[in-house]
Amino acid sequence: MPGRKKVSVKGIVQGVGFRPFIYRLANDLHLTGFVRNTTDGVEIEIEGPEENLCRFIEVLPEKKPPAARIDSVVTANLNPAGYGGFAISESKVTAGFTQISPDIATCPDCLAEMHDPQNRRHEFPFINCTNCGPRYSIIVDTPYDRSRTSMRKFKMCESCSGEFHEMTDRRFHAQPDCCRVCGPHYELYSVAGKKIRTDDPILSTIELLKKGKIVAIKGIGGFHIACDAENCDAVGKLRRLKHRPSKPFAVMVKPSLVSSIVHLTPDEDMILNSPAAPILLLRKRENAVCAEVAPNNPYLGIMFPYAPIHHIIVKHTPYLIMTSANIQDEPIIKNARGVQRKLNSLVSFYLDHNRNIENRCDDSVGYFLPNRGFSIIRRSRGYIPVPIELPIRVKPTLAVGPYLKNTFTLANDREAYVSPHVGDLDNLETLHFFHEMLEKYKRWFRIEPTLVVHDLHPDYLSTKIANRLVGKKKGVQHHIAHFVSCLGENHVEEKTIGIALDGTGYGLDGNIWGCEFFVGDMKNQRRRAHLQYLPLAGGESSIRKPYRIAVAYTYSLLQRNLKITHDSETKIIHTMIDENSNVVYTSSMGRLFDCVSAMIGVTREITYEAEAAINLEYTADHETCDHYPYTITDDEPMIIEVKSTLRAIIEDMEAKIPNAVISAKFHNTIAEFSYDVAAKLRQIDGLRSVCLSGGVFQNRHLLTLMIRRLEGGGFKVYTHKQLPNNDGCISYGQVIAANATDNS
Ligand code: ZN
Ligand code: ZN
Ligand code: FE
Repeated sequence: MPGRKKVSVKGIVQGVGFRPFIYRLANDLHLTGFVRNTTDGVEIEIEGPEENLCRFIEVLPEKKPPAARIDSVVTANLNPAGYGGFAISESKVTAGFTQISPDIATCPDCLAEMHDPQNRRHEFPFINCTNCGPRYSIIVDTPYDRSRTSMRKFKMCESCSGEFHEMTDRRFHAQPDCCRVCGPHYELYSVAGKKIRTDDPILSTIELLKKGKIVAIKGIGGFHIACDAENCDAVGKLRRLKHRPSKPFAVMVKPSLVSSIVHLTPDEDMILNSPAAPILLLRKRENAVCAEVAPNNPYLGIMFPYAPIHHIIVKHTPYLIMTSANIQDEPIIKNARGVQRKLNSLVSFYLDHNRNIENRCDDSVGYFLPNRGFSIIRRSRGYIPVPIELPIRVKPTLAVGPYLKNTFTLANDREAYVSPHVGDLDNLETLHFFHEMLEKYKRWFRIEPTLVVHDLHPDYLSTKIANRLVGKKKGVQHHIAHFVSCLGENHVEEKTIGIALDGTGYGLDGNIWGCEFFVGDMKNQRRRAHLQYLPLAGGESSIRKPYRIAVAYTYSLLQRNLKITHDSETKIIHTMIDENSNVVYTSSMGRLFDCVSAMIGVTREITYEAEAAINLEYTADHETCDHYPYTITDDEPMIIEVKSTLRAIIEDMEAKIPNAVISAKFHNTIAEFSYDVAAKLRQIDGLRSVCLSGGVFQNRHLLTLMIRRLEGGGFKVYTHKQLPNNDGCISYGQVIAANATDNS
């Protein structure tokens, strides 16, 4: 008995070779009908023997193309229509929408062709197929067809068109398919915009890099600033010109040479080789590349080449600094005009191509945490705009996120679209980027928010943006957003303990929070303990000068005069505290790290965010297992007092105990008092699980210690999975917290 079925598939099913796969599968099973992209996924009709129809539905999810993700398959029976064959039909534009695939690193098949001198795409820097290539970054609109991408201006040549229409070909319906004859190409320019005459702009670029020049290179999500990581003069020059004295640079390395510069496990190797190809922090080998690439840092940020151009270049210059082309915290530069305007004092040349970058995205960054897996620090290229499932149904919501390290989230029903890393909302460029992406997200994902969620800080630009938008407004406290974000990602519905260790967040009482213990669920949270309030003399401006924090904390807690700066400056700080003028109070864990780092002389002034804390982490030895004293009061909320901690640190300093030991003991102290507080809350409320969130957990040593201590003490410990534990998770948490309490 022949039958006919309609099959609707949702998920990441466009731009990943899904229709060709369906075409082949239908042909293999002798089924007729059609497949087409719709605005909300892929629609299939199949006709043929009933048992083959069932077989089709069965193997569909099993044999799906590697880059596809199937969220749902819905089938319906229809009366036979008598189709003559199987076809790929025109896309149908409907009211729904479909997921957009992230950009995918060059696949092994394409690489093999690229390296084959006989292949017509030998060394072709835009090679791609249905399993790899640009997606998100070239999309103008959905559904995903060449005519709605920045490939639309390139008319396919006969050979490419042949592949595109040949169902047995790997490029059957590969939308960005092209070759040397019909595709985009690279050109080399001086930074003033003058085209450099050369037969091979890529080889000329390689020559420049080998000579120690700094060159901007256009890739997938934007430009990189590149230079030879083995050329210390070039690296030093880049540091000077970029006004970036010590923040580490990422290195793109020829994959076969990776273990010559870092240590890596098979798990880590797999992440580097994954379709998302993120930057992975790996333990550096001695004398690997120039020390200046990541000074005083045991890790190197490593990525593998992920665009064809990268593979060509690393063949000749195997260790390349590839840092996002931007000025300070502005968004990544995506076109020649941006390079000419913003980088003219930094690079001498740029390698440009003529395929537009429609949607910018930085490289993603993360590390591998044993027993937990890949932990992301910055979620961008390769991951966005894949939605993250929400634990509850939500109304159309926009959460504008935090002030620093901003991402926003647009959400509806059970799906949250977290934006790419936008940056610090304190300059015009970033603000434009925020609005650009917001408009695009609204259009692509067909969400018109009726609820707008923001941070509680009245002066934050993000709050002001929210207030200007239409829709009901709702504020969510920063650390509650951290906590709920972690609950949400793990789909935890019961009451748990939430520990937020963080830098800065505006508190419900007007103080700056940052070491907070909550008890609650997605709907209700209560602050049950926090680090005692300590005085930031001179306000948040002291964040750049941790020595001021050390002077202020030791003076206010111990009345000690820490001689680490000029007497006059010390006196000003003391006076501010005595008179309680120009002082803000904070329970921030980030500031406590700054204080200790400066006290013991690890880092007293910083050149990038969290530098003092990061250096303190790297100073700690991993053998010392004792900790410093502290007190936890019985107040409601409980207060963690660190007077005895700081006093003991000073005693250790005076006894000339090495910094490695002091730092280790300090880390252990945090894990210990966190466990103590959690254990007290367990006793009172009978809770067994803990959520960890907040930027301080980017400290891998501390995160590992905390998990070990809490798990060892019988707690189940939840950490973030797809989102970073820094402020990149805030907007997602804001969506959930606001909707959980929304009763309109
Ligand atoms: Zn490929
Ligand atoms: Zn072609
Ligand atoms: Fe935070």
